[in-house]
Amino acid sequence: MSTAPGAGGGRVLLAVTGSIAAYKACEVLRRLRDRGLDVRVALTPAGAEFVSATTFAALSGHRVIDGNFTDPAPEDVAHVRWGEWCDLFCVAPASADFLGKMALGIADDFPSTVHLAVRGEVVVAPAMEDRMWEHPAVQANVATLRQRGVTVVGPDRGALASGREGAGRLADPDRIVAAIVDRLASRTGALAGVRVVVSAGPTREHLDPVRVLTNPSSGKMGFAVAEVAHRRGADVTLVAGATSLEPPPGVTARRVITGEEMLRALLDAASSADVVVMAAAVSDFRARQPLAEKLGKGDERGLQLDLERTPDILESLADLPGTRVLVGFAAETSDVEAKTAEKLVAKECDLMVGNRVGGDSGGFESDDNEVVILDRLGGRRVAGPAPKAEIAAIVWDAVVDFMERASDESPESPRKAG
Ligand code: C5P
Repeated sequence: MSTAPGAGGGRVLLAVTGSIAAYKACEVLRRLRDRGLDVRVALTPAGAEFVSATTFAALSGHRVIDGNFTDPAPEDVAHVRWGEWCDLFCVAPASADFLGKMALGIADDFPSTVHLAVRGEVVVAPAMEDRMWEHPAVQANVATLRQRGVTVVGPDRGALASGREGAGRLADPDRIVAAIVDRLASRTGALAGVRVVVSAGPTREHLDPVRVLTNPSSGKMGFAVAEVAHRRGADVTLVAGATSLEPPPGVTARRVITGEEMLRALLDAASSADVVVMAAAVSDFRARQPLAEKLGKGDERGLQLDLERTPDILESLADLPGTRVLVGFAAETSDVEAKTAEKLVAKECDLMVGNRVGGDSGGFESDDNEVVILDRLGGRRVAGPAPKAEIAAIVWDAVVDFMERASDESPESPRKAG
């Protein structure tokens, strides 16, 4: 993201847990303050063993609450107030124990309790011995956090407290600060007031009353795109195909089944939208004449189907009068980037997100994805493999970045449709 660091102000709650790397949290704090961010510190009891609350109070300019809830003003209900106060909750260093508490929602000290009251962005920077980091329990907890949209920075490889070399060192303070600034920039209203329409999931075309043409899309990618847009302040309409996923809270959802229904719902919603993201896997074909009665099995020659193309929704959206940013998805089994670049042009999109599907790649039904994002001004970024929540955040970073560059190029509008 190219948005200015700390734009719109940013309040960071820095939780420091028990690790020999706790002293590096002082450096993280100092650099965050250098960027004009307001930082408060909460310590776990183990964290307080490594660096004292007095040090963090002096560096932050705020009182510090330590793990034992020795809150000087208990009537404050500080865990709720501090949770509401912060735009971003960062745990650096994050011990194995603390990551486990976060994953499970355990609240048995001040930082873990405040974590449950946080509704903003969350960044964790793990630090521990490599043998601990590699343990399946720790890996599972980190995967849970990622799935929840938490940004995980590091750990790095290098010398550990035990003297061993391995993965487990706290990430460089610069990287932690960069991740915090990036997440804050993404959050501070980058999409406030922006009207977003997202399509998601497969469409389904009936051949007869009991058989359908469809594909294995789960809808997870589009739902994540809608959820992140909502979190970043957008007004989101989600047009969901044949998926049983629950729409994210705060998002207006419309359910459709066929490509024709999706086209109508999208044309209606898109006319007043600023950004349309076509993450749906629209069935390309449908029966020319769907049958009213169940089709027989046919004989040994098999079954002949008479199919026709479904309407290309992106094409219709590109022809819709008005101005909006159009984002398409290209699900490919090979040559992903080249085909994504072709589709960006052919489908008259502003951005195209390419991903591999089929085989054992991420994509359709997976929780993870790996993408290349191209835009018509020459922008390119690659992301993943990572949980779809993380990919969705990067897609929005790319969209916002594109909108900024497009408005620099033509202050009138990011894109003239038609
Ligand atoms: O050409 P292809 O189907 O691979 O392009 C994928 C992109 O086009 C996706 O964004 C998908 O939502 C969109 N699409 C569409 N209408 C169709 C088929 C695909 O808008 N009938």
